[in-house]
Amino acid sequence: MSRESTYSFEFYPPKTPEGTEKLAQVWRQLASLQPRFFSVTFGAGGSTREGTLATVKSLRADGLEAAPHLSCIGASRESVRDLLDTYREMGITRVVTLRGDLPSGAGPAQIGQWRYASDLVEFVRSHSGDLFHIEVAAYPESHPQSRSPRADIDAFVRKVKAGANSAITQFFYDAEAYFRFVDEVRARGIDIPIVPGIMPITNYAQLHGFCERSAIDMPRWIELRLRSFGDDVAGLRAFGLDVVTRMCERLLAGGAPGLHFYTMNQSQASTEIWRRLGI
Ligand SMILES: Cc1cc2nc3c(=O)[nH]c(=O)nc-3n(C[C@H](O)[C@H](O)[C@H](O)COP(=O)(O)OP(=O)(O)OC[C@H]3O[C@@H](n4cnc5c(N)ncnc54)[C@H](O)[C@@H]3O)c2cc1C
Repeated sequence: MSRESTYSFEFYPPKTPEGTEKLAQVWRQLASLQPRFFSVTFGAGGSTREGTLATVKSLRADGLEAAPHLSCIGASRESVRDLLDTYREMGITRVVTLRGDLPSGAGPAQIGQWRYASDLVEFVRSHSGDLFHIEVAAYPESHPQSRSPRADIDAFVRKVKAGANSAITQFFYDAEAYFRFVDEVRARGIDIPIVPGIMPITNYAQLHGFCERSAIDMPRWIELRLRSFGDDVAGLRAFGLDVVTRMCERLLAGGAPGLHFYTMNQSQASTEIWRRLGI
């Protein structure tokens, strides 16, 4: 395994004091695995602005590398500029730069001045130069709103040309989709690292909802087995660990430059996959 590989964990900002306390315990456990960074999501339109900032601050106070997500849909230039300056002062060196999604029912007036993540990447570069390592999102199974897989790859290439340094993918359970996406992007002359996003399987109903909303294809053989576990949570988790660990092994053996875990603010499943992989 290359020493340059990037392993990272993603959190969302907790909404309650109990959630905040629990998350700090989670990252202290995960920190012992020595990941490259912890990323913290950002609600579109700035809905979690304070929560994201507070979580990033606490991670920094624990001496950890934090990478805030930043979305541009519905955001003003001033608010993004202020956040970037705040992050610079906090010693942040990596941001995950996204378009985000407007809440359902929002109209064109709420889009704001930027339409796509590539606009935000351009702005971050023009405002902050090379200060930040810029991560962008990639979609091995295509973004649900894209006109075609080809149009989505065009959009990805645009983000890279605007100044992205590396990418993290949407989660998936079909390693072939990842390898094909990487091949297609490489054929376009893009050579930045594209790190697979890994969603551990711990809860069927929740995962089914995520897959529906994000247009992720859950392979039928996995779906059928997950459904068959019913109330057998331990059985489902054991199966989920096997399936996801095997996929990670395949991804790494096939050249994936690391893994990014969507932790859902839990440490157990990611830690176990990490341990089984012998990272
Ligand atoms: C790793 C990761 C982290 C995420 N973190 C967050 C988060 O913290 N907060 C949050 O709200 N959401 C987050 N998301 C979800 C993301 O915001 C949504 O998927 C959103 O719908 C698209 O964001 P994007 O940055 O990929 O957008 P873009 O790259 O702008 O793409 C959005 C759509 O527009 C199309 N497109 C792009 N450029 C053009 C163009 N010039 N012309 C025509 N079409 C174009 C693309 O094909 C795609 O369909 C995350 C997703 C990933 C994979």
